[in-house]
Amino acid sequence: MGRSLLVLACSAVLAVAALSGCFHNTSAVAADQFLSGKVYTRLLVEIDHQQGKAPHASAQDMLRNRILERCNKPDGVQIQVTPFPETDDTWTLSEIRALEKEKRDNSASGSTAVLYILYLGGKYETDGVIGVQYGPTSFALFKDAMANAANPTNPVLPLAFTATDVERSVIVHEFGHVVGLVNHGVAMVRDHEDKEHAGHSKNKDSVMYYAVESLFLGQVFNGPPPTNFDADDIADLRAAGGK
Ligand SMILES: [Zn+2]
Repeated sequence: MGRSLLVLACSAVLAVAALSGCFHNTSAVAADQFLSGKVYTRLLVEIDHQQGKAPHASAQDMLRNRILERCNKPDGVQIQVTPFPETDDTWTLSEIRALEKEKRDNSASGSTAVLYILYLGGKYETDGVIGVQYGPTSFALFKDAMANAANPTNPVLPLAFTATDVERSVIVHEFGHVVGLVNHGVAMVRDHEDKEHAGHSKNKDSVMYYAVESLFLGQVFNGPPPTNFDADDIADLRAAGGK
């Protein structure tokens, strides 16, 4: 690696360290809605997407599998996908929250809990973010940023993964925040939080590693980023009522 590449790599790592994609500390109540099956035995995933920014089918399948593996939802998981026309291409946190107010059709009721996901084009107000959990039951993913993460204009290293690999990973990561990982609403059984990136795992093989939701993940992962929780994540979910 030449000197200029080394400088580029270091500045990118610093940029990643400054990011945070979590703006809502999940409450135990929200974790109970998703992890436990005591009241809510079914989960509806409402996904609203900007026209042309639909969720990939394999990302939906990945999310459904992770929910069924970790959450007590014996009556199943249903995913509902709806497009909306929208031309905005830079999103602030308050704009995203306002959009949810306008578009969200479902909230927890009866025996059904609801996870709300916005798929947006363009970019977030903070550079480098590809996913953000902004509410106790909701998160947003940036479809164009996922594509850019897999195909940067000046990669430090050749990347061995696709935009869909990124999408499959980041959708599980944001779901992990909604159910309280790491130390983000559910207690840790063993200490595994990355002290420099609150709410994230120290383990690079966990989907809860901080770099998963960053545009620069190609500088951290040599292959597709992780799509599963590790043993410490799973221990926390089980202790909080999951499986
Ligand atoms: Zn995160």
